[in-house]
Amino acid sequence: MHVTLRQLWRDRLDVVFPRSCVHCHGLVEGRRFRHLCGNCEKSLFVVKAPHCSTCGHPYFGETEINRRCLHCEELEPEFSEGKTAVLLKGPGRSLVHALKYHHGLHVLEDIVEIMASTPGYVDYLRGAVLVPVPLHPRKMRERRYNQSLLLAECAVRASGGNARVQELLQRVVDTESQTRYDRRTRQKNLKNAFALAPDAAINSGQRYILVDDVFTTGSTLNACASVLSRAGVLTLDAVTFGHG
Ligand SMILES: [Zn+2]
Ligand SMILES: [Zn+2]
Repeated sequence: MHVTLRQLWRDRLDVVFPRSCVHCHGLVEGRRFRHLCGNCEKSLFVVKAPHCSTCGHPYFGETEINRRCLHCEELEPEFSEGKTAVLLKGPGRSLVHALKYHHGLHVLEDIVEIMASTPGYVDYLRGAVLVPVPLHPRKMRERRYNQSLLLAECAVRASGGNARVQELLQRVVDTESQTRYDRRTRQKNLKNAFALAPDAAINSGQRYILVDDVFTTGSTLNACASVLSRAGVLTLDAVTFGHG
């Protein structure tokens, strides 16, 4: 087996700081994942076809084709297709929570590995420009990084460099601080929450893919998609790491 310098260094580190599983906190001994133990790896739900062609949610034995699910029919998506890597339960949820809420940047390497081994994920990314859903500057100050940008960079690594990232959008309305408004008003405000970044240049011959951490209602992706469509993007898809 070919052992790289990097691997040797990691093995060293593992002796000094034993790796713990992001989900069960048990010891991680395998080499495939850094922060997912063998048992939790088995219970990670990686999405395979058939799945919803818009949100990526898998169908369980009801169909053999990728068609749109009922939720997405109601959403009236402003992007063409969508794909997701894992379902947000068990270890999948723990990976996303570590990244979003616990500054768990150490899980990014495992996320690259999961993306790379999700059926069809890398092919889907090939040749595309990945556009991360932006954070509002207030949220950015609080979290100090945009998890969607980091996930877009993971996707580039998973694709072996066959995609690239462009931050074409900015978040101009801080929708998260609007808890004083009712749900309908917040939904309406979300529609106007995004704008084109000041230096954004669109190439209408290019395929773009919006990147978000998770697919929940799809309304954030839709709001971003409508900004890009108005700016002249003709081929627009979406990708998320998890579906919850
Ligand atoms: Zn575990
Ligand atoms: Zn769907």
